Amino acid sequence: MTKFALAIHGGCGVMAQLDLSEAEWIAARRDLGRALEAGYAVLVGGGKAIDAVQAAVVFMEDSPHFNAGHGAALNENGVHELDASIMDGRTLAAGAVCASRHIRNPVLAARAVLEHGDAVLLVGPAADRFAEVSGLAVEEQGYFTTERRRKALAAMKAHVVAGTHVAASESEKHGTVGAVALDQQGHLAAATSTGGYNNKPDGRVGDSPVIGAGTYARDGVCAVSGTGKGEFFIRHVVGHEVASRIAYLRETVEDAATKVIMEDLKPHDIGAGLVAVGADGSIAAPYNTDGMFRGWVTDAGEYWVASHDQVFRHHS
Ligand code: ASP
Repeated sequence: MTKFALAIHGGCGVMAQLDLSEAEWIAARRDLGRALEAGYAVLVGGGKAIDAVQAAVVFMEDSPHFNAGHGAALNENGVHELDASIMDGRTLAAGAVCASRHIRNPVLAARAVLEHGDAVLLVGPAADRFAEVSGLAVEEQGYFTTERRRKALAAMKAHVVAGTHVAASESEKHGTVGAVALDQQGHLAAATSTGGYNNKPDGRVGDSPVIGAGTYARDGVCAVSGTGKGEFFIRHVVGHEVASRIAYLRETVEDAATKVIMEDLKPHDIGAGLVAVGADGSIAAPYNTDGMFRGWVTDAGEYWVASHDQVFRHHS
């Protein structure tokens, strides 16, 4: 069988071990495993990398455990504004939506933008309208809200009043979901979806829908999906930077990804992580926080999931 690979993340800056019950940690890891299964099913059947990353991200958008779709973060007005993008490394075609308030699965709208083939990025109400006329599910805001995100917003507002928001835990700050894949035809793809960060300014758009920053894929080089303080991913053009290091300096995926997260982003004192897959199927998942929800599966069909240092085998 030809080599293929899939890696996903469910956001960096995961909370302290004691913040969630053992059952909640297990449930989050189980959903990472199921997201991998959704993507693996596409790849093992000879399907396209872009369909695999889409399937994995849809699963995580639907899960309440991650900051995207159902369970997304709330902005300063208690509103969900969702960003997502997807990129096909074969053609460099890309699609994205940002500040959407109603699209149930923003990554599907990003894919529809890509398929439509004209614009790359649609914003706000126009993105919502585009999704609806494309036949995608739209929801009232309440669909996206979970109790955990409501509490996180209240906690972040309390930090702001107390002047301690800089020291707030990484988990209160952000999260995102993303996937990268190499398919049996040797094509690469990446997708990312997020609610941004808790208490973000009204109208703020992060890196996730910005091609080259939070998402990037180019055949023969790599596919990248990032998580962390998006402003810095945009400033460092992280996805493209990782690809450039591989293409121009001939670095390995691991070296390029680690260099960007640990040497370029860490000095800014912000949480950051990413998953990347190379043209040879090699996978990197560096992060500079206490943890990052992540997982990967190779053509051998072994699933691995983790939040902190310990890596668990997921059985389908
Ligand atoms: N990168 C996302 C954003 O800035 C948030 C995150 O990944 O934590 O919108």
